[in-house]
Amino acid sequence: MIGAILGDVVGSRFEFDPIKTKRFQLFKADECHCTDDTMMTVAVAKALLDSAPDWSDLSLKAVEWMQKIGLDHPRAGYGRSFFYWLTHDIGPYNSFGNGSAMRVSPVAYAARSLEEALKLSDIVTAVTHDHPEGLKGARAVTACIYLALHGASKEEILQHVRENYYPLDRTLRQIRPDYHFDVTCMGSVPESIQCFAEGDSCEDAIRNAVSLGGDSDTMGAIAGSIAEAFYGVPESWASVAESYLLQADLWFGLDPYMADIFREFRSRYMTK
Ligand SMILES: [Mg+2]
Repeated sequence: MIGAILGDVVGSRFEFDPIKTKRFQLFKADECHCTDDTMMTVAVAKALLDSAPDWSDLSLKAVEWMQKIGLDHPRAGYGRSFFYWLTHDIGPYNSFGNGSAMRVSPVAYAARSLEEALKLSDIVTAVTHDHPEGLKGARAVTACIYLALHGASKEEILQHVRENYYPLDRTLRQIRPDYHFDVTCMGSVPESIQCFAEGDSCEDAIRNAVSLGGDSDTMGAIAGSIAEAFYGVPESWASVAESYLLQADLWFGLDPYMADIFREFRSRYMTK
């Protein structure tokens, strides 16, 4: 969850101003901020915290918190269809956008088995992204995180992805030259997983994601969420994430609450 938030924050200043290098200042205070990727990750975390132990109301809680946090932070960079969903009672809209994958990381921490993690992934995804590719993108990220948290080697994780989700048959060096902004799961989730595959830390995976010059905040969130589970993050990153959550609430004129959700989720699910 920290990797997702800070991947979003680091990538935010490159979403519409792409670069093709890993050499850049990681946090730039006046230009970096939380976007929709962070808002919806926090919403999924809160839905899990509020849900009944058997997850029977998780779908309802996911809708409730995505709408609450989304409407509280209305100009956070949502896709057009998702914003329409936020403001109209339309139900799932068959999306295969990468929004399903950017927000899903908390489910891997709350689940007690891979099977349960995938079930939770489907529940929180299907409220909007019920297209098979939308569900698959979220499942792939969930599986990577769950396996990383439970001791799998990097090769085991990547083999699991190849066998169940995406071929991962291109290196970043091969992807980078022609890569451009792509918000579909099919065109950004495998590339984000490759950013984790070729990274050697959470920061390095996020730098890889930005360096592809695509949907940098979302790919940073996806690669960062997987890399956090595998490598961990520097201790200072939790307070950096909290400060950006606080800044986002204040920016929208709110009594801050997202950092409280973050802390509650961490203490319930992220302490080993
Ligand atoms: Mg975004």
